[in-house]
Amino acid sequence: MSVLIPERILLGPGPSQVPARVLEALGRPTVGHLDPVFLRLMDGVRDKLRRLFQTENPMTLAISGTGSAGMETLFVNLLEPGDRALVGVNGVFGGRMVDVAERCGADVSRMEVPWGRVFDPEEVVRRIREERPDVVALVHAETSTGAHQPLDGIGEAAREVGALFLLDCVTSLGGAPVEVDAWGVDAAYSGTQKCLSCPPGLAPVTLSSRAVARLDRRERKVQSWYLDLTLLRSYWGQDRVYHHTAPVNMLYALDEALEIVFEEGLEARFERHRRHHVRLREGLAELGIGYVTQSGHELPMLNAVEVPEGADDAVVRRRLLDEYGIEIGAGLGAFKAKAWRIGLMGHASSERNVALVLAALERLLD
Ligand SMILES: *Cc1c(COP(=O)(O)O)cnc(C)c1O
Repeated sequence: MSVLIPERILLGPGPSQVPARVLEALGRPTVGHLDPVFLRLMDGVRDKLRRLFQTENPMTLAISGTGSAGMETLFVNLLEPGDRALVGVNGVFGGRMVDVAERCGADVSRMEVPWGRVFDPEEVVRRIREERPDVVALVHAETSTGAHQPLDGIGEAAREVGALFLLDCVTSLGGAPVEVDAWGVDAAYSGTQKCLSCPPGLAPVTLSSRAVARLDRRERKVQSWYLDLTLLRSYWGQDRVYHHTAPVNMLYALDEALEIVFEEGLEARFERHRRHHVRLREGLAELGIGYVTQSGHELPMLNAVEVPEGADDAVVRRRLLDEYGIEIGAGLGAFKAKAWRIGLMGHASSERNVALVLAALERLLD
């Protein structure tokens, strides 16, 4: 290779550390994307994604592209020009959803609370009843602020007014419960490189029968050929009609990452994320470092914390990387230079990593 790739400890907002088993899967021989063996693997990936999203949705698949491709897929397929979308913005990713929805020609209504805070679900329900949008979209785990959005009653309210409930689960999936059917979520997307600990490159998505009905009722073609689910479903479905070449080896990696998730078990995995989050929080408190996120709504897999008084944000992050090989994330937008984002995602959520990042920070802040 042209550059020497070091071994880093990835404790940022993603990608997260990839276990050796997943990297080995990536290196298996490439086969044809219509090879019967590969088709069997795809069926298995779909079944495991359904278990992970806790859904029975037949339309569950992995889009070729990162989490943002999952986002774009759902918006371009479910919105037509002139449709109304109500979008929650309390960080970078809600803002990105607005941008994507506007590019679809939708009439977008923004719902805002300050960065770091979550939406009061009752207030969201009120806005849904008042505005009666075609789509209501929220970010479950806002990676830019560490906020864990409660969703009580939102799926029901959306159903009441005939809206589709769209949820960004990029950071939550595999690290905290995501119950698509129980919560009345009509369309959800995620990415492979956060709590699934797979390299970036695929975006799992799932659509309810209501969402599929909306897709079938479209008046015009989906504006994106590559992300058109009416075409993609013929490849992921029984027909196996060629659309684009599936990234074969990435699907090996996702299959293996999902095997690892279910070997551990969902409940045990969520509990591990909670446990290490609590450990990290206690250790940071001893260093005098608190969270920038609304109290009681901190994510277990992404800790958005204050840059302590007197510390140079960029210097500390640089030294963590150079001297300890640890990557943590910088603050974005409203939190630029004010927050650090310490990820404990998937494979990286471990006792060892918590101890390591705390010890390194203690030395650097001394
Ligand atoms: C990372 C992330 C995305 C975008 O995913 P990419 O893989 O970077 O394209 C979208 N939403 C949230 C909440 C994320 O954390």
